[in-house]
Amino acid sequence: MTEITYCKNHPKVETTLRCNRCEEPMCIKCAVHTPTGYRCIDCVKEQKKVFETAYWRDYFSGFITAAILSIIASIIVEYLSGWFYGIGVLFFAPFAASIIISGVKIVTGHRRSRKLFMTITFGVFVGGASILLDGLTTLFLKYSYPEYVGPFSIWWLLPVIWVAVYLVIAIPAVYAGLSGFRLK
Ligand SMILES: [Zn+2]
Ligand SMILES: [Zn+2]
Repeated sequence: MTEITYCKNHPKVETTLRCNRCEEPMCIKCAVHTPTGYRCIDCVKEQKKVFETAYWRDYFSGFITAAILSIIASIIVEYLSGWFYGIGVLFFAPFAASIIISGVKIVTGHRRSRKLFMTITFGVFVGGASILLDGLTTLFLKYSYPEYVGPFSIWWLLPVIWVAVYLVIAIPAVYAGLSGFRLK
């Protein structure tokens, strides 16, 4: 005769499933499919904590480092946009992303958490966006004073467009690089 077991979180639910870590009975609702088999949500949560090692100061230093490096990268992008129609940016942006990843990893001591990765990625956006905004302001000023700079030229748009392209490439690249997520 088999013993009737009930879910440890739902005492009214009969189940034959057991967590392969704590070996407590669990119902289908509480079971999580992991690469190492079925586990209860409590064990999964506990394991997650082991992986989330970031300190509160890592959020601050990670954000600042990412923003500063992204500002430097965006300024380089603005210069690059004048050469070869800015095609170099397509090669520079992934390179800049890898430098940002290395930089923040040093500053945050390779500690990790999903929220930290999101904060760092937001720093990349803020850094690039500030240069983008600066570029747009310059563009607007040039446009407002044609007596000094001549009629509007489509080339004026290039730096702004390429900084935007840099952001589109760097933002997902930094997040993917930090979280260890591979783009297929
Ligand atoms: Zn468990
Ligand atoms: Zn349950």
